[in-house]
Amino acid sequence: MDNLKNRYAAMGVGEAVYEYGSKILEKLKDRFREFDETAEYNQLKVLDAMQKCMVSEACLLGTTGYGYNDLGRDTLEKVYADVFHTQDALVRPQITCGTHALSLALSGNLRPGDELLSPVGKPYDTLEEVIGIRPSRGSLSEYGVTYRQVDLLPGGGFDYEAIERAITPRTRLATIQRSKGYQTRPTLSVAHIGELIAFIKAKKPDVICMVDNCYGEFVERVEPSDVGADLVVGSLIKNPGGGLAPIGGYLAGTKECVENAACRLTSPGLAKEVGASLGVLKDFYQGLFLAPTVTASALKAAVFAANLYESLGFAVVPDGRESRHDIIQAVTLGTPEGVLAFCRGIQAAAPVDGHVTPEPWDMPGYDAQVVMAAGAFVSGSSIELSADGPIKPPYAVYFQGGLTWQHAKFGIMKSLQSLVESGVVEERALLC
Ligand SMILES: *Cc1c(COP(=O)(O)O)cnc(C)c1O
Repeated sequence: MDNLKNRYAAMGVGEAVYEYGSKILEKLKDRFREFDETAEYNQLKVLDAMQKCMVSEACLLGTTGYGYNDLGRDTLEKVYADVFHTQDALVRPQITCGTHALSLALSGNLRPGDELLSPVGKPYDTLEEVIGIRPSRGSLSEYGVTYRQVDLLPGGGFDYEAIERAITPRTRLATIQRSKGYQTRPTLSVAHIGELIAFIKAKKPDVICMVDNCYGEFVERVEPSDVGADLVVGSLIKNPGGGLAPIGGYLAGTKECVENAACRLTSPGLAKEVGASLGVLKDFYQGLFLAPTVTASALKAAVFAANLYESLGFAVVPDGRESRHDIIQAVTLGTPEGVLAFCRGIQAAAPVDGHVTPEPWDMPGYDAQVVMAAGAFVSGSSIELSADGPIKPPYAVYFQGGLTWQHAKFGIMKSLQSLVESGVVEERALLC
């Protein structure tokens, strides 16, 4: 009665799927040990920062109104600066999402006449309107900031010759996206980002190198700020919020870069001095404390899914053996039914809204219908187990998150069960 297989069966995962998944997992022990060791390293890094900054019970309380002298907020920003080895940080519930954090970093640090360079190809979709690649109200382009882009080479490497040519006396800031996001290019390792930054700085030392760190935090032992980035930026409803932060974004970097962004978030003259933390500080601290292990859970989930679906003949990016630099896993299922069944399986494993059936819909900003599976405690949180897939060729799903490895494992088992039940995967494929 009390064995695991029966528990899975009671929750709709049949024996064939359970045994097949277990066999795949057997081979992943060494990979998982690596993730656990990285989590241990980063757990100590976070703990050390909290102790050095003397986080105290009073820091967990919040302020209201202007938020002058908010001890918890100011201490938390010191903790982030210590974790990322930067001079300063801005960590606020007033930063509404990752896009907002990136927008603050860019608009705070660029001035009319400056040029922004992306040496790693097209940035994340939502940044197109921030920059003005797609004309948009209030974009950097409207403020006289120009944009130049150098695409990655076909193999995913940096096109150093083109980057060198693209750096002009007006180049003020280089934006470097670590995660592939929803593109097919490889995610950049921190070491690789370091090489790019060194190249840019050798050519023009005063270029601010900013890294979009979304989905990358705590995946490695080092962060881009350890290899020369002037500013790293991300969302608190991804890795560093540990699943507990209910909102927020962060920037960590040089004193000047952070101050410039703070002047945009609040106001020139007020900068970091205002911004009440309300009641979120305890969750920001505790979420950061949990973030290294939560990230490890998400990494195990990604690698399990990669190996499971690769073994069944589906294309996966990254593949089952590649080293990991973010938590996103793409699986190409090849048919609309496959995408739908996968997402429905993930949804059926959710602790919230597990009873609902995801349907494809016309999401603003997308050129095809998108189906999303998300049953999260924090709405839209993608450090929680989630998946989404545009209903268009090649019919791939993007899958990420998992607050606990045990839950993520169950979710992936459910996705396979759902594919079997809908006939996309034949049960006899699991028996060999
Ligand atoms: C999530 C993400 C963002 C920001 O997205 P929000 O939905 O606004 O938080 C930016 N860049 C990358 C690479 C991301 O993954």
